[in-house]
Amino acid sequence: MFSPDFNPLLEVLKNHTDSSGNVSWNALISEVKTMASLFAGKAEMPHKGTAMEEMMKKMAESQGEEVAWQAAIGTDPIKDAFEVKKFAHASGDAQIVPPPFVPMASDLLVNTKRTTRSAAYINVPFCQTRCAFCMFYIGAYKPEESKRYTDALIKEIRMWQGSKALEDKPIHAVYMGGGTPTALEACDLERIITTCREVLPLSNDYEFTVEGRLSFFDDEKIEACLKAGANRFSLGVQTFDTEIRQSVGRLSTKDELIRGLENLSAYDESSVVIDLIFGLPGQTETTWREDLDIVSSLPIHGVDLYQLILLEGSPLQKLIKAGKYKYAPDNRERAEMYRIGCNAMEKAHWKQLSVSHFGRNTRERNLYNVLAKSDADTLAFGPGAGGKIQGLSFMNTRKYELYPVE
Ligand code: SF4
Repeated sequence: MFSPDFNPLLEVLKNHTDSSGNVSWNALISEVKTMASLFAGKAEMPHKGTAMEEMMKKMAESQGEEVAWQAAIGTDPIKDAFEVKKFAHASGDAQIVPPPFVPMASDLLVNTKRTTRSAAYINVPFCQTRCAFCMFYIGAYKPEESKRYTDALIKEIRMWQGSKALEDKPIHAVYMGGGTPTALEACDLERIITTCREVLPLSNDYEFTVEGRLSFFDDEKIEACLKAGANRFSLGVQTFDTEIRQSVGRLSTKDELIRGLENLSAYDESSVVIDLIFGLPGQTETTWREDLDIVSSLPIHGVDLYQLILLEGSPLQKLIKAGKYKYAPDNRERAEMYRIGCNAMEKAHWKQLSVSHFGRNTRERNLYNVLAKSDADTLAFGPGAGGKIQGLSFMNTRKYELYPVE
């Protein structure tokens, strides 16, 4: 969002740092809060001639290009309104905090109070294998990394203990995503969830989601998560069609998935939700309808219907360009698949909880995703995890080799 040679956080830090490097924290926090209020439209512009007004002017001048957001007029809005979606998430052009300022930026974060309904996100940076369509993949899982990562993560979570950011307001939802959290060993899954329950001020009705894949998620791991206090599992299925899913790097067969989901749901101690993707190479309306029928027939509680976003530079884009697949649905065909999905869920009496998410009954709340798409304060732990407090966004380094933070 800002030009590369202008970092507002550094400007503010400079304004409140004396020649010996001492920081006037109260003034600094107050100024950053004012900035956040200005961005949120909750405060008046600063008085003319002040340093703050100068800085706001510079920030306005350094804004990037405007993005076209208007919908196109057409007879079928689902198909005509927007161009192809090219990004998984909207994101700004954030800047890296230079190493000497990292302790100050960290202090600033942990000393900022949360003011909204809140969530926490934990990122697990490994997967057993890489799926062709994915750009969230960071690295391959090795069993010896489970303990190392967990020790570092717990240390990071405990660094926040006693901070202002953990005071007062409860945290309503924790999402352990990635990557593939279910790749971790059972004892480490248990240690992470237990630490969160000890350190974070979770609400009585908290939602704690563990994301993952059914392959390698055995009963020992499931029971470790449930015992420690997880109450929601989000599993990436993408499609039940064995041939299509294995052609994009998924491992399990349709029968293995169905058995795995029935087993997990039979514990009757958590919400079980799955992701489906429409638009994968080889998918047709027929295979898509079969996927939707299987969803309705399973004892699960929620489903996300995501369209395939062919991300620039993803393995799948390269494979399609190389002619590896005979056929992949285009943008308009994907739009039709979305319509078919919504109609099928409605017919099966599932409730639509967001654009992409559907719940079968009240066990499924989709709380983390609702909070993440609002202005909720979100704490973030683990390499590559991003959050925000009072409008101040932050992201941990994605470089796993730099983890743990000392
Ligand atoms: S398991 Fe999930 S995060 Fe890992 S590569 Fe596949 S889709 Fe991406």
